[in-house]
Amino acid sequence: MEQISFLPTFASWQVAARRALQNEIRPDQIAWEELGEDQPPLHLFEEAEPETAAKPASQFRVPKRFLALAKLISLHRDASRWPLLYRLLWRLTHGETHLLEITVDPDIAQAHDFEKAIRRDIHKMRAFVRFREIEHAGEKWFVAWFEPAHHIVEQNASFFADRFASMRWSILTPDRSVHWDRKTLTFTAGVPRSEAPAADQMEELWRTYYANIFNPARVKVHAMQAEMPKKYWKNLPEATLIPSLLHEAPQRIETMMKKSAAKIAQADGDEWYPAPTPKTSSLTTLRGAARGCTACPLYRNATQTVFGEGPKHAKMMFLGEQPGDQEDLSGKPFIGPAGQLLDRALKDAGIDRNSVYVTNTVKHFKWEPRGKRRIHQKPSSRDIAACRPWFEAELQVVRPAILVCLGSTAAQALFGSSFRVTKERGKLLESELAPRVVTTVHPSALLRQPDEEARVREYAHFVQDLGVALRAAER
Ligand code: SF4
Repeated sequence: MEQISFLPTFASWQVAARRALQNEIRPDQIAWEELGEDQPPLHLFEEAEPETAAKPASQFRVPKRFLALAKLISLHRDASRWPLLYRLLWRLTHGETHLLEITVDPDIAQAHDFEKAIRRDIHKMRAFVRFREIEHAGEKWFVAWFEPAHHIVEQNASFFADRFASMRWSILTPDRSVHWDRKTLTFTAGVPRSEAPAADQMEELWRTYYANIFNPARVKVHAMQAEMPKKYWKNLPEATLIPSLLHEAPQRIETMMKKSAAKIAQADGDEWYPAPTPKTSSLTTLRGAARGCTACPLYRNATQTVFGEGPKHAKMMFLGEQPGDQEDLSGKPFIGPAGQLLDRALKDAGIDRNSVYVTNTVKHFKWEPRGKRRIHQKPSSRDIAACRPWFEAELQVVRPAILVCLGSTAAQALFGSSFRVTKERGKLLESELAPRVVTTVHPSALLRQPDEEARVREYAHFVQDLGVALRAAER
């Protein structure tokens, strides 16, 4: 029996296998021994057999397909891959030139099983690597921890370099680590899990993203669990959401079915439908259903649905236009500069912000890029019509004593496009949707006043309008 020691890489095995073939050593006469990276390669076998005594290497021709298959199979973790590869090589070069076509052959079947496992592992790594942001040498660096089943890190590295070309990142694994500095890929030894960074704020963003793209109508629990086996869950921030999303799936499917209602509009390949709201008296259920809303094109460029917030039976409901940049990122309504001004004005009017329900007419942020900034764009009448069922549903659940429309978008959603806030503000009005309504300007209008004097005057007027609403709510 010949013992062949080699580094467990395809290149090293290839050299050893070629020598064994040249010396006509049968597969069953070889014991393949993998060397650790810290062991010196023992070229005993190669040195013992001078090349002149062997057949010329060119004599051993194999199909290109075999080379590609062998390279892939060499990434498998099972040590039996090396004798298997040599058996295939031996048979291909000893009269069985069509061996690769014989799928029922046990060696070929085993090779295909190994190949499948490798491909699956490559796919899993692409799907389940999650980067966490850290600071490294004064730069942003993204680090991920992954435990591949096989030796696929190098094989997969260029995929991540292409996909995340503009980021500096490292993927750490127990066997091998790969790093990208926006120019070059480098590889280092594997590391223990403890060297990977812990959870960070990116995980919340990732969870939000996942909740938004989760399609309850497409979910097949068994297929999902096969695709995302539990062993990957511990590295996936979104895994904590899966049980609740699965639980909500039937309800969300029902609401999606309602989306088959008449189309509101179609333009440039985009479509607008009335948002599919579920029949419920639960704000949590409404909020959950709104997360997956795709009734108009606005969801595509926004981070998440920004649903209303506040006590279920609040006496006062405030309806704004749409979330802004900060609201879009945080998922909470009225927390940006206009929201902070609203808080101040509520306080000055004697209203406790925690006792009111605040929401928007349109639940996704509509914006256009300007340089690195996202600039607010007014929602169109189609956007408003599509989103209207959400605030109607909120109104039906909360049933506030008074609805305060902040700005013309909210007011016109109730009273029609001819309604003028400048004329009607601060008056107690009636509408079909809410028995008592007060309209006033949007707090962002106060931020746009040209000078301090105008700002002070307009702010006082705004607080006065809120006072009208408060007195109506208390009656
Ligand atoms: S803006 Fe409203 S209707 Fe449009 S996708 Fe968002 S939640 Fe749905």
